[in-house]
Amino acid sequence: MKKLLFILLILLQQQLIAAEVNIYSARKEALIKPLLNQFTKETGIDVNIVTGKADTLLKRLEVEGKNTPADILLTVDVARLVRAKEKGLFQAIDSDVLEKIIPEYYRDSDSQWFGLSLRSRVIIYSPDRVNEEELSSYEDLADSKWKNRVCVRSSSNVYNQSLVAAMIAKQGVEKTEAWAKALVNNFARNPKGGDRDQIKAVAAGVCDVALVNNYYLAGMLESSQKSEIAAANKIKLFWPNQNRSGAHMNVSGAGILKPAKHKKEAIQLLEYLVSDKAQQWYADTNHEYSINANIESSSILKSWGKFKADNLNLSLLGKYNTDAVFLMDRAGWR
Ligand code: FE
Repeated sequence: MKKLLFILLILLQQQLIAAEVNIYSARKEALIKPLLNQFTKETGIDVNIVTGKADTLLKRLEVEGKNTPADILLTVDVARLVRAKEKGLFQAIDSDVLEKIIPEYYRDSDSQWFGLSLRSRVIIYSPDRVNEEELSSYEDLADSKWKNRVCVRSSSNVYNQSLVAAMIAKQGVEKTEAWAKALVNNFARNPKGGDRDQIKAVAAGVCDVALVNNYYLAGMLESSQKSEIAAANKIKLFWPNQNRSGAHMNVSGAGILKPAKHKKEAIQLLEYLVSDKAQQWYADTNHEYSINANIESSSILKSWGKFKADNLNLSLLGKYNTDAVFLMDRAGWR
C-alpha cells in the first residue's frame, strides 16, 4: 500500500512538473511577461514565450504544422487574428468565462480568437496650429483645408490597414478610395516611421495632425526620455467621429492553436488574461482599455475623457484587409 502511494505521489509530481503552456507572441515580452509570471505563481503552470514579428510567427506556425510546440498565438491587431483563423491555425474554444467577459464584437463568432485588450486610433494635433473646432472625423482629414498638414505612417502598417478596412465595411470601396486619395493629397511628407514618430513630427511642426494609437501617446508622456515627454506635451488628442459611429477600435488578442498539446492550460491562461487583475494591469501598465467595461482606465487615459467607441464587429477588419491594402496602393498611400 505504501509503495502504491509512493508511486502515485511520483506520478502526481511529474504531472505538476509537466504543467506548461507555450506562447508565440508578437507582443514584446516586456508588455506581457509580468502577467505571465503572476499566472505561473498562482497556478504552478510554467509559461514559455517565443517572441517575433506577427507575420514571421504566422509563417513559422504554417511550416511547423502539427509539430509546433506552440499552444497559443498572441498578437496585436485583429487583421492578424483573422488571418491566422483563415489559415486554419486556430481551434474553437468553449469557455464560458471568455464569452461572458469579452463583448461579442471583440471576439470571433466561431470562438477561435479573443480580444484581450483594446486600443483606439485617434487624431492628434498641434494646439498651436489647429483649433479643436476644426477637427471632426477621419473622413474630414481628406478635406483640402488639411493640405500638406497630415502625417501618417505607411500603408504597410496593419493599424492603418484596419482603419481603412473599417471604413470599407461602412461605406464601401468606392467612397473609401476617394477619401484615401484625398488624404494622400494632404500628406505633409511621405509616410515614414512608427506612431511615436508621427507624434514627434507634429510636435516638431512637420505637420499639424496625425493618426496614432492612443497608448503611444500615453507611453511617451511616461517615457524615460525627456525629449519624448516634451514632444507628447506639445500635442493634444482628439476623439474622432463622435457624431458618427465613434472612434476606431482594435484589439490585442489570442487564439489557441489547433495542434496545442496543453489545451487545458492554454484555456486557463486566456481566462487569466481576462481576469480583473490582469485587465487592470493592461490598463495601468500598457495604457490599453480593458475589454471589461468595469475595469478603471489608467489616469492618463482618464485625462482624455470619456468617448464614444465604434462597436463595429472586428471580424470585418480582417475580412476587408486585402481590399484595404489594394485600395491604399491605388490611392498612392506608400
Ligand atoms: Fe502598437
